Amino acid sequence: MADAVTPTTIAERVVEAILAQKLAPGERLGEQALAGNFGVSRTMVREALMQLQARGFVEVQSKRGWYVVQPSAAEARDAFAARRIVEAGILAEAGKPLQKVIKTLRAHIVEEQRAIEGADAATRAFLLADFHVCLAQQMGHRLLVDVLRDLTARTTLAATLYQSKHEAGQSCAEHGAIVAALEAGNTARARELMIAHIGNVEEALQVESVAAPDAPARLRATLMPVARSGASR
Ligand SMILES: [Zn+2]
Repeated sequence: MADAVTPTTIAERVVEAILAQKLAPGERLGEQALAGNFGVSRTMVREALMQLQARGFVEVQSKRGWYVVQPSAAEARDAFAARRIVEAGILAEAGKPLQKVIKTLRAHIVEEQRAIEGADAATRAFLLADFHVCLAQQMGHRLLVDVLRDLTARTTLAATLYQSKHEAGQSCAEHGAIVAALEAGNTARARELMIAHIGNVEEALQVESVAAPDAPARLRATLMPVARSGASR
């Protein structure tokens, strides 16, 4: 028998879809559609959505329903800054990892490469984000695994919203360099590379070119009188 679906399973699947860039910022999450998809009651779906709301991934708009959040430029910067602190911290206190840790991380990078060569953009996006979660796990930080999954999902939402130009191939190569430094026992170098990597991903966001997601401004723009050149009044 398949495992029973719980609100937590539904929430996990939504976060996974965000990490895979299958769910975009601003996308509507219909209670009825989710209930149908998971074969559960709307009550259970609502419970899952409330969990996600508490974690900052969805918001409810009165009478209109649930939406995936659209992080502002400041919120995006904040999420990247938090990742730098947590991920640099993980590497700062690491000694030379066990051989089996290196093997697991290398296997993850091979999977990333395979996804980059393949056509499945969702798997590619998911694996590139999951590397950071996997690293926390392999370094023995069980409590930080959940923290990093949430932080990475936030930066992924920002990357989707601000159309990151960061190349998947470059990310994967940077992951490889971090693991190589760890394997060589050069933790300080691994930490430096990680901070640079997160910075590269952040810099690739096109925050300036996208108007801040600001619904009232959009509405104002939408309701501006249409310019009609040469029309007589
Ligand atoms: Zn990365």
